[in-house]
Amino acid sequence: MEKVIIIGSGPAGYTSAIYTARANLNPLMIAGEEIGGQLMLTTEVENYPGFADGITGPEMMDVLRKQAERFGTRIVPKKVTKVDFSARPYKVWIGEEMHETQSVIISTGATAKLLDIESEQTFWGRGISACATCDGAFFRNVDVAVIGGGDTAMEEALFLTRFANKVYVVHRRDEFRASKIMSDRVKAHEKIEILWNKETLEYTGDQMGLKGMKLKDTVNGEESEIKVEGCFVAIGHKPNTDIFGEQLEKNDTGYLVTKPDSTYTNVEGVFAAGDVQDHVYRQAITAAGSGCMAAIDCERWLEEQNF
Ligand code: NDP
Repeated sequence: MEKVIIIGSGPAGYTSAIYTARANLNPLMIAGEEIGGQLMLTTEVENYPGFADGITGPEMMDVLRKQAERFGTRIVPKKVTKVDFSARPYKVWIGEEMHETQSVIISTGATAKLLDIESEQTFWGRGISACATCDGAFFRNVDVAVIGGGDTAMEEALFLTRFANKVYVVHRRDEFRASKIMSDRVKAHEKIEILWNKETLEYTGDQMGLKGMKLKDTVNGEESEIKVEGCFVAIGHKPNTDIFGEQLEKNDTGYLVTKPDSTYTNVEGVFAAGDVQDHVYRQAITAAGSGCMAAIDCERWLEEQNF
C-alpha cells in the first residue's frame, strides 16, 4: 500500500515528489513514458528563478529528477492506464500491474495542440514553438507568425511584438474567437499583420531552422508564402485527463477542477497540480508552485485521516 502516488513528471510532479519525500511519505511517481513533460520539448528556459544563466528544459528536468530521487522518490517511467477512485484505497494501474494508495497527486499536464503536418516535427524547437513566453525572446528583429484566433494567439502575438520585427497572425477564418479587447489590440498594432482565412500547408526551411510557411486561402484556395524565422502555434491546449473519465470533476474544456486556493479535487485524497488544472498561467514556476501546494495539502490530509 502506497501513501501517495504521483502521476506525471513535469515541474509540478517533481516538486510534489520533493516535498512528499521530505515529509517521509515515500512517494511513488509514475512518470509517464515521455518523462519530464512539456519542458523536454523546450530549448532554453530563461525565466525560471534560480538559473541566472538560463538552463535547457531537459537539463532542468534532469536536475529536478535528481532532487526528487535524492530524498527517496521511486520513479517508474511508465504510463498509468487506468484508475479507480470510487473507494479507498484508490487503485492505479500500469497495464496489468495494480497499485493501491491512500492518496494521489495528479500532475499529468497538458499538451499543446499542433497542426499535425509533417514539416512541423522537422522544425519543432528550431523555429516552431507553442510558447511565446518561453521562446519569444530568441526571435529579436526577425519576422515571426502566430497561428490561431483565440485569446492565446492574441496574447502571444502582442508579446512577440516586443522582440520581433513583424508578427503575422495566421487565422483560418475571417473573425477572431478571442475577446474583443484582445482582438482590437492586435488589429490596431502597427507591427502585426493579420492574414485572414489562411491555413498552413507546410513549413519550409533548411538545417539552420525555419525560414517560411506555405499558406492556402480557405475561401478561394489560392496559395501563398510568407518568410518567417519563428512560428508560434497557438491553437489551444488539451489537458491530459482522458484516463480519469468521469471520476473527477472537469471544466468544459477538460481541465481538472480544484477547490479555490487549494489543490483539492472533488474526490477526497486526490489532488491536482500544474497545467492539468491550470489553463491560465501554464508556466514551469507556477506548476512547481502548485506541486508544492499539492504535497502540503496531501500531507495534511493524510495526517487528518490518521493513516
Ligand atoms: P481557443 O480554443 O480559444 O482558440 C483556439 C484558436 O485556434 C481558435 O481561433 C481556432 O480557430 C484555432 N484553431 C484550432 N484548431 C486549429 C487548427 N487545426 N488549425 C488552425 N487553427 C486552429 O484556445 P486558446 O488557447 O486561445 O484559449 C483557451 C481558453 O483560455 C479560452 O477560454 C481563452 O479565452 C482562455 N484564455 C484567456 C486569456 C486571457 O484572458 N488573458 C489568455 C489565453 C487564453 P477557430 O476560431 O476557427 O475555431
